Amino acid sequence: MQMIKGLIRLAQTLQFNILSYWFRHYSRRVMIVSDRPSLIIAPHQDDETLGCGGLITLKRQLGVRVAVVFLTDGGGTCVSLSDYEHEVNLRRQEAIAALNLLGVPGSDIHFLNYPDGKLQNLSASDRQDLLTQLQQLLEQYEAEEVYAPHAKDGHCDHEAAFQLAYTATVSSRIQLFQYPIWLFWRRSFLLQLKWRDLAGAYRLNIGSVSSKKQRAIRIYQSQLSILPFGFLNPFWSSTELFFVQAMPKPEQETLAINARKR
Ligand SMILES: [Zn+2]
Repeated sequence: MQMIKGLIRLAQTLQFNILSYWFRHYSRRVMIVSDRPSLIIAPHQDDETLGCGGLITLKRQLGVRVAVVFLTDGGGTCVSLSDYEHEVNLRRQEAIAALNLLGVPGSDIHFLNYPDGKLQNLSASDRQDLLTQLQQLLEQYEAEEVYAPHAKDGHCDHEAAFQLAYTATVSSRIQLFQYPIWLFWRRSFLLQLKWRDLAGAYRLNIGSVSSKKQRAIRIYQSQLSILPFGFLNPFWSSTELFFVQAMPKPEQETLAINARKR
């Protein structure tokens, strides 16, 4: 039994790494970083750096304002109250340190502190409150791009985060990008994902800032030791992957968003 579990885990790790490599290196479309103010929506403290660390750094180097909002408090793995408070504080400090390194000042980092693991089960009033907070941040930063986890990222909080981002932006001109974290990790990958879920993949070359992203990832010491073996491999690479849900021009090969005159 143990051997079968080991083989399943090995197959899962191989699937994850092969698909991540293929999409990051062979997606036809190339993304160019725009100078549009952006809001990064992260369910947990580390998703933003793993999924968008290079993008954030490149935008900050251009002088573009990037705000990051964490939806949950990140305390989901704890059992006792004292552990919980320690974990939440630790992850908060790690997030601030990692984002400071990537160029985001503390004033542009926001913690909404909804319960970890419960985003899909928020009460109607909590969900409305969260959407209102997202709307306020979108207005405060005049965000023109939003980055959220992939719609089918294979984690309840991540998929809920996408739905919230979608609801907050669907009736606006804000462009919504999806970043994968657990997408290729899901065991039932071939059964649950349709090709259209993976269409619109853009690869972003972050080679010039990948060492900085790697240093930011290493700040998340509380998470590095508990993530599955082989899971971090794609996130060390010099490419990030984004999915665009609805392309204004489907035939367009390069996503070059015109510079907004300010
Ligand atoms: Zn997460």
